Amino acid sequence: MLTKQEIITEAKRLNFADIGFTGAEPFDSQKDYLLKRQEEYGWTEAVGLGLIAGTDPKTILAGAKSIIVILESYFEKSFPMAMERHFGRCYLDDDRVTKDGLALKIKALRKFLRDGGIDSKVPFNLPHRLSAARAGLGSFGKNCLFYARRVAGGSSFVFPIALVVDQEFAADEPSVSIGCPDWCRNACVAACPTRALKGDGKIDPRRCISFLSYYGGGLTPMELREPMGLYIYGCDRCQNVCPRNVNWLTKEKPLNPRVSPKAADFDLTRLLHMDKTYFLQKIWPHMFYMSADDLWRWKMNAARAMGNTRNPDYVTDLLRAFEENSDERVNCMITWALGHIGGREAMTALKKFYEISEGMLKDEIKQAMESAAAKF
Ligand code: SF4
Ligand code: SF4
Repeated sequence: MLTKQEIITEAKRLNFADIGFTGAEPFDSQKDYLLKRQEEYGWTEAVGLGLIAGTDPKTILAGAKSIIVILESYFEKSFPMAMERHFGRCYLDDDRVTKDGLALKIKALRKFLRDGGIDSKVPFNLPHRLSAARAGLGSFGKNCLFYARRVAGGSSFVFPIALVVDQEFAADEPSVSIGCPDWCRNACVAACPTRALKGDGKIDPRRCISFLSYYGGGLTPMELREPMGLYIYGCDRCQNVCPRNVNWLTKEKPLNPRVSPKAADFDLTRLLHMDKTYFLQKIWPHMFYMSADDLWRWKMNAARAMGNTRNPDYVTDLLRAFEENSDERVNCMITWALGHIGGREAMTALKKFYEISEGMLKDEIKQAMESAAAKF
C-alpha cells in the first residue's frame, strides 16, 4: 500500500499546488446547515446536485476511510481583461467537458492510487471547501470562499478537489476557521452588489450573481439588473476587493495561452447574436451550466451587460437583436438595455417597438422609454 508521503510526492510531481488528508467522517454540521436552510438551498436538490447526500462520504464510496484533498491554483496565469469583466475567473479555464487540462492531472493521480491498491472517487457533491479546511489546507473568508494557507499567495483562487479513498491515512491538523483580519471591515460584504453576503460568513446563494446568471428563473427582476452589472456567468467582485487576495492579484503573471485565444468568441456582441451551432462549438465546452435550450438566458445576460456599460456603441447590436429574436425575455432585456443607454436612436427605436408589441414586453418598453427620456 502507498504511504502518505508517496502520495504527497506524486501530487507535487503532477503540479497540484497543495495536498492534505482528513478522515471520512460525515460532515454533520454541513448537513444540519443545509437542512435548516432549505428555503435557500432547496434548489440544489431540485437541480440534482445532491449536496445533502454528499455530506456523508460513505454514500460516495461504501468503504470510505479517508479523504485526500488536492488544491489546484487556477490563477497562475492571467486572463484577458475583456473576459475578466464578464466571467468569474474560475470558469475561464474549466475543462470539465473538454477534459484536457485539470481532468488529466486528476486522472493521473487516481491511476497512481489505483496502481497502489487504493480505490478512489471524486464526487462533485462532497463539501469540497470544508474538506480542504478539515485537511488543514486553509481557512474561510466572510465571502464564503476558501483561502489557501501555503500556496497561491494565500488567496482564494484555488479549487479544492476531494478524493474519497478506501485506505486510512493519518489526518492533518484541521484549519476550519474564518481567517479574515478585523481591519478589513467586511469589504466583501459591502461590495457584494446583490447583498448576497450576510456578514457572518454565510451567504444566500439565491442572491449571488453566480447563481442568478445561470440558474435564475425567467426574466431577471428589475431590481437586480443594475446590481448584476457586467457579469454574464459567475462573479468575482467579493474576491477582487478582498485584501487577502491583493498579493496574488497584483503579482505579474504571463497570459494564459489556453484561454486568451478564445477571448473574441466571448465578446458581448457575439454572445447576443449567437445561434445553437456557435454556442455548442465555442461556448458550451467551457461554460456548460446552461444548455443550448437556455440560449435565451445567455442573450438576456449579454443584453443586460450591454445596458449596464451605458455604451451607445451597443445600440446598433441591440436593435438588430430585437429584430432577430422571438424570445420575450430577451426582448424585454434588450429594451431595458436601450432605455438604460438612452439617446435619440434608442428612443426612436423604442417608440417603434412599442407600437408593435403587447403584454409584458409593451410594459417593459414603456418603462424603458421613461428611463431613456430621463437621460435627455
Ligand atoms: S460572487 Fe458576487 S454576487 Fe456572489 S457573493 Fe460574491 S460579490 Fe456577491
Ligand atoms: S474582503 Fe475582508 S471580510 Fe471579506 S473575505 Fe476578504 S478579508 Fe474577509
